[in-house]
Amino acid sequence: MPICRECEEDVEELHSVKICGRSRKLCEDCADRAREQAEIAEESESVMQEMMGYKGRR
Ligand SMILES: [Zn+2]
Repeated sequence: MPICRECEEDVEELHSVKICGRSRKLCEDCADRAREQAEIAEESESVMQEMMGYKGRR
């Protein structure tokens, strides 16, 4: 049985999720949560950049 790296539970299937350019193997629950958090992080980053006056500069 594979083990989820996040919650360390035995799971039937691991899902690989890309977070910040790295792929991680997580169970379905953790994968969903990780995806959500990655989205929130991206959103807040772009909001921050707008507030600080960055316009598409990297
Ligand atoms: Zn998990």
